[in-house]
Amino acid sequence: MGENMDKKFFECKVCKDIHYGKNWPNPCPTCLTKNSYIEIKVEDAFKKLEK
Ligand SMILES: [Zn+2]
Repeated sequence: MGENMDKKFFECKVCKDIHYGKNWPNPCPTCLTKNSYIEIKVEDAFKKLEK
C-alpha cells in the first residue's frame, strides 16, 4: 500500500473549499476559520469540483 492511499477529500463547511490530502488545513486558507473542514466522500468531492 502506497502513501497515496491515505489521502482523502475534505470540505470547508464555511466557504465550501475542497482540499485533498492526508490532513485538512487548519485554519482554512481561504476563509481562515479554524477546524472548519469535514471529510467528504470521493464521489461528492468530484460532483462539487465539476460545478
Ligand atoms: Zn474555508
